[in-house]
Order: sequence, then C-alpha cells, then structure tokens
Amino acid sequence: MKIDMHCHLDLYQNPFEVAKECDDKGIYLLSVTTTPKAWEGTKLLAHGSSRIRTALGLHPQLAHHRAHEIELFDALLPEAKYIGEIGLDGGTNFKKHWDIQLKVFRHILKSSHNSGGRIMSIHSIKSASEVLDELKSIDGIPLLHWFTGTQGQLKRAINMGCWFTVGPAMLNTKKGQALVSMMPKDRILTETDGPFAKFNRKSLMPWDSDIATKQLSELWHIPVALVHEQLEMNLKHLVKLNH
Ligand code: MN
Repeated sequence: MKIDMHCHLDLYQNPFEVAKECDDKGIYLLSVTTTPKAWEGTKLLAHGSSRIRTALGLHPQLAHHRAHEIELFDALLPEAKYIGEIGLDGGTNFKKHWDIQLKVFRHILKSSHNSGGRIMSIHSIKSASEVLDELKSIDGIPLLHWFTGTQGQLKRAINMGCWFTVGPAMLNTKKGQALVSMMPKDRILTETDGPFAKFNRKSLMPWDSDIATKQLSELWHIPVALVHEQLEMNLKHLVKLNH
C-alpha cells in the first residue's frame, strides 16, 4: 500500500495526469488544499478514484490574503471529511501576519470541533507550541505534517494524541530522523508535500512516498515490507477513528 497523506495535487502543472497516475499506481492520497476556493476544482481530481480524498484547507501562509474565505470554509465544511492544510507559521516571512493567522486557525478549529471533529493536516513551522495550545480540547485527529519542533514539543504532541506525517525531505535530515525515531510507530503515515517539497532537487511526486518508506525501514531497522504493513494498519486505524 502506497500512502501520501499530504500532497498538493492541484498545484502540479498537469494535475489530472498526476491524479490518473496515482490511481493507476494504487496510491492512497490525501489531497490538501490551500484555500477554500480551491476545494471544488481540487475535488474534481479525485473524481473516479476510490483512493484520493480531498481536504478542505486554508494555508497559514495565505491567511492574510484569504481570511475572507473563512465563510466559504464554513459553508463547505459539512461535505468535507478531511481538513488541511491549516495551521500556523512563525517563520520570518509570515510572523508579521501572526494575528490574522491565529484568528483563521482558531475559527477553523472551532468550526470543525462544532461539527463533530475531523482529521486535520496541520502545518506548524516555528509555531509548534502555539499550534498545540490551540489544539487543546478540540475534537478530531491532528496529523502534524513535517513536524520541525523540538523534542520536548514532540513529546507534548505525542501525549496529546497527535499523529504524524513524514516525508523524504524530513527523513533526509539528522534532526528529522531524531524526531521520527521518537514518534510512536502506530501513529505515523508517509507524505510527500509535493510539488513544494523536493528531494535531490526534484519536486516530489505522490509515488515518491516510497522513498520515505525506505527511509523508515532504515530508521526502524525492519524490512520495507514490514514498514508497509505497519503503515497500512495505521491508515486503517485512522480511517476507523474518523467514523
Ligand atoms: Mn503542504
């Protein structure tokens, strides 16, 4: 089972071809969006595929331009089973928009909580503590995507019940490896974050989540087949939790 739990399918140059290839290759894919306006169009990419799920999102790096789309977010929420990409970004370029990011993130979490909770793919660059603060007493399952916080923040996330999606770029760094080795094996899924994330200077494709599977096999000292088994069990468990 090939799994890419955080991919920007709609942002590839040829998204319909990529979606078709995902279907041919049997990839289970969470197709995240960056604005509520992208939801309808991105959902079309999943049309005819039984393994692509579309997530309704509002990316923290766009919050200052797209805060007004929060109404559209709420209108679409009843039909969205998955949420993402959402979160906070405390990096140098986005810290200046912190207040509006926080307002948007809080609104989304509250709406999602009030409508029964969702699986949520969450961005937490330079904001892990603040993201975890906001997740307190929110129903749903947070998937912390490409977690780059400290080991202490990671421990807190684990204790709060968070899940983690990890990709080739993260697993290629010593820091990323140290974090992933601390994560519970039964709460990890693979991702690519393509086409944004790169590996060997090339934009990652959804099927490159295979690279992460190999990296996990090295990190966990178990054969690739057992990693696949573990990830498959995890995905089934996660989907069950969502019902
Ligand atoms: Mn992303």
